[in-house]
Amino acid sequence: MKKLSILGSTGSIGTQTLEIVRTNKDLEICALAAGSNVSLLEAQIREFHPDMACLFDEAAAADLRVRVADLPVKVLSGMEGLMSCAAHEPADIVVGAIVGMVGIRPVMAAIEAGKTLALANKETLVTAGHLIIPLAKEHNVPILPVDSEHSAIFQVLQGNRMNKVSRILLTASGGPFRGLTRVQTADKKPKDALKHPNWSMGRKITIDSATMVNKGLEVMEAKWLFGVDYDDIEVVVQPKSIIHSMVEFEDGAVLAQLGTPDMKLPIAYALYYPERKPLPGPRLDFKTMGQIQIASPDNEAFPALPLAYRAGKTGGTMPTVYNAANEWAVAAFLAGKIGFNDITDIIAACMDRHAVIESPSLDTILEAERELRASLTKDRG
Ligand code: NDP
Ligand code: MG
Repeated sequence: MKKLSILGSTGSIGTQTLEIVRTNKDLEICALAAGSNVSLLEAQIREFHPDMACLFDEAAAADLRVRVADLPVKVLSGMEGLMSCAAHEPADIVVGAIVGMVGIRPVMAAIEAGKTLALANKETLVTAGHLIIPLAKEHNVPILPVDSEHSAIFQVLQGNRMNKVSRILLTASGGPFRGLTRVQTADKKPKDALKHPNWSMGRKITIDSATMVNKGLEVMEAKWLFGVDYDDIEVVVQPKSIIHSMVEFEDGAVLAQLGTPDMKLPIAYALYYPERKPLPGPRLDFKTMGQIQIASPDNEAFPALPLAYRAGKTGGTMPTVYNAANEWAVAAFLAGKIGFNDITDIIAACMDRHAVIESPSLDTILEAERELRASLTKDRG
């Protein structure tokens, strides 16, 4: 029986991972970690019996410790606690499903402990891919993508290793504001941006999908996961999210992975790799589907995508600035403090004034993030 440690167990990816564990009954949970959601983590501990749990928030962890005092579970807190859950001895697989850069250290701790990583937490690869990928190689640890596009690419690469990839075609739905101009997106509110047409996800990634930052982050994620050049990653808009991504090989063949939009497929693929397990749910019906529409992204209305290519090609601390400015701006937008278009304007302004540091260490990355957050908070409240 494979044992899992789930970092971010209370979120959208975390709870869907637990749904698979609940249904399949052939996986065991040994550690669960989250930010501050005491009630849900308590319920998860009672159902799945991990021997270790963590809430990043100290006060929430203290509350949890009292609530589960009747159970043999060790409750930890803070970054140390997250890293302990990531490196927890019995775990075979660590599911990285924390949102944001706070996941970097736990992800690296999992790799250093030799754990297979099922990775959803794309912000870690975007900002620290140059550290994480070599670290995984050094420890001989596989990184199995959970992000649906990257899982699709990973799936179509199976058995094709002798024929090199010439191009990755990363699909994007275009989000709820596809087809609108920048003038039309200007007055969009969080409630509008939170209505994703195809996927039900956490709040931050749903806003990222509306701005196309998500696709920008995914371009950088693909570069690190598959070792391709930025010029060989092309984003294509496929509004219904039926094609989950495609790969063109050197012999001209284009292979795609298709399916209904359900994150449980990429999660299960990573958990059971190299096996495929049965998964219930709706299936594509090609008789009634009609056309599969494909278009180019609108880089004028959604400048986040060209900004991401610029950040990725510049490298060094620039992807950290792209990501950290976005994390700050999304929180400000959700709090009603800034407008929708301000998110990408803030990213662009932060990138324009950033003096890039090449090959940054982890400390340099985290310091660049801290400085950027502090200056944005000082300037904009
Ligand atoms: P959610 O917002 O639904 O969940 C985030 C999780 O991270 C929660 O468990 C939350 O805990 C935890 N968390 C937040 N802050 C901290 C912290 N400081 N320390 C420890 N844990 C923390 O996000 P999603 O599940 O949607 O996304 C998770 C990651 O997966 C993101 O990187 C996202 O980009 C990626 N992803 C998600 C997809 C999806 O379909 N949802 C698809 C592809 C990728 P708490 O509840 O206590 O706050
Ligand atoms: Mg995705």
